[in-house]
Amino acid sequence: MNGNGAPPRVGDVTTPSASGTAARTRLERGRGALGPALELVHTGRAPTRAVLTAELGVTRATAGAVAAELEALGLIRVDSRPGGAGGTGGTGGAQGRPSHRLSVAEDGPVALAAQVHSDGFRAALVGLGGRIVATAPGKVTVSADPAQVLGAVVEAGAELLAQSGRRCVGAGLAVPSAVAEPDGTALNPLHLAWPAGSPVRAIFAECVKAAGIDGPALTGNDVNLAALAEHRHGAGRSAQHLLCVATGHRGVGGALVLDGRLHSGSSGLALEVGHLTVNPEGRACHCGSRGCLDVEADPLAFLTAAGRSPGPEVSLLQQARDLLRDEPTEPTVRAATEELIDRLGLGLAGLVNILNPDRIILGGLHRELLHADPERLRAVVADRSLWGRSGGVPILPCTLDHNSLVGAAELAWQPVLDDPLGALA
Ligand SMILES: [Zn+2]
Repeated sequence: MNGNGAPPRVGDVTTPSASGTAARTRLERGRGALGPALELVHTGRAPTRAVLTAELGVTRATAGAVAAELEALGLIRVDSRPGGAGGTGGTGGAQGRPSHRLSVAEDGPVALAAQVHSDGFRAALVGLGGRIVATAPGKVTVSADPAQVLGAVVEAGAELLAQSGRRCVGAGLAVPSAVAEPDGTALNPLHLAWPAGSPVRAIFAECVKAAGIDGPALTGNDVNLAALAEHRHGAGRSAQHLLCVATGHRGVGGALVLDGRLHSGSSGLALEVGHLTVNPEGRACHCGSRGCLDVEADPLAFLTAAGRSPGPEVSLLQQARDLLRDEPTEPTVRAATEELIDRLGLGLAGLVNILNPDRIILGGLHRELLHADPERLRAVVADRSLWGRSGGVPILPCTLDHNSLVGAAELAWQPVLDDPLGALA
């Protein structure tokens, strides 16, 4: 608390004093500001109470009450010590006093995050700020029965929860498939043996409930969730029209974050960029077409183009990354790198023409391809796209580890970000 005594609690709307009406008005306004304030701290945009005050456009007293309430809920930490531990702090206030520093509570609640991909699955606990606080060892086989896989990943997450002793706000799951709304079905898990149309959200929710975990259980496409996480905590911060393109372990996915919200289309199926044709004479695709980005620019395509026969020991993504890192100048690897960069660039150029993004971020193997030859990729995009030629769209690597897991946790955190008091009280 600050040296002037604790500010009034935001949720306390029954102030019986003579000035009750004014206080009540301020506190009710304060409750409406709790969610926006939490999001500002969660995304690192309000490192101090002075910045929070300015960002919210409220009085210092209201910002103080809001911060105190979020601290009382165990979500953030308000540090009033001048020159205290960590951070640059910043100054604020009329007298130029150092402003109170705000950070997410290090021992606060967590979300259970789960990810399934073609080479396995993983569970983690993720706190506010996109911080992964615990991960279970990754598994390397995926059963053809979604209930078995989701049961196992939830069980691994429940064990982490029991070990941590933390409160859980809910659970989120990332899957390598478009997730059709409003039913939450995995429309086309092309790279898993799961049946098309598997009701993954309902199965996941059942598993979460059976494990005794409270809160919502939500599901989304892995690249959509990666884009959301990167927008809030990583390479996509502050972009208004953020395009994310990434390989998973197999295939290629895309996502668009518009003004901070995922653009998922009318039924959750937007941005299926993996099935853009980038090579009309190319490989047959699982979707029935030919030469799709999905099969022309993923880890298997890279290994094949480099003349390598992938082994079963580690994931295709890891084998492709290792090859690119260890033998970048070997002639067949170099040729494969250029071929994939050109195919990827062609796909990106088409997307740039249609979507006019202000930033592109690349994940999975595409991040390494960008790193291998950024000038080549940028030149292909610029040469092939009208908006790319006229402006030059920044193309950046994703920066978060496990961004799909962090994004899955964002799903579970969303009700808390919308209404912290309502979700936690
Ligand atoms: Zn296809």
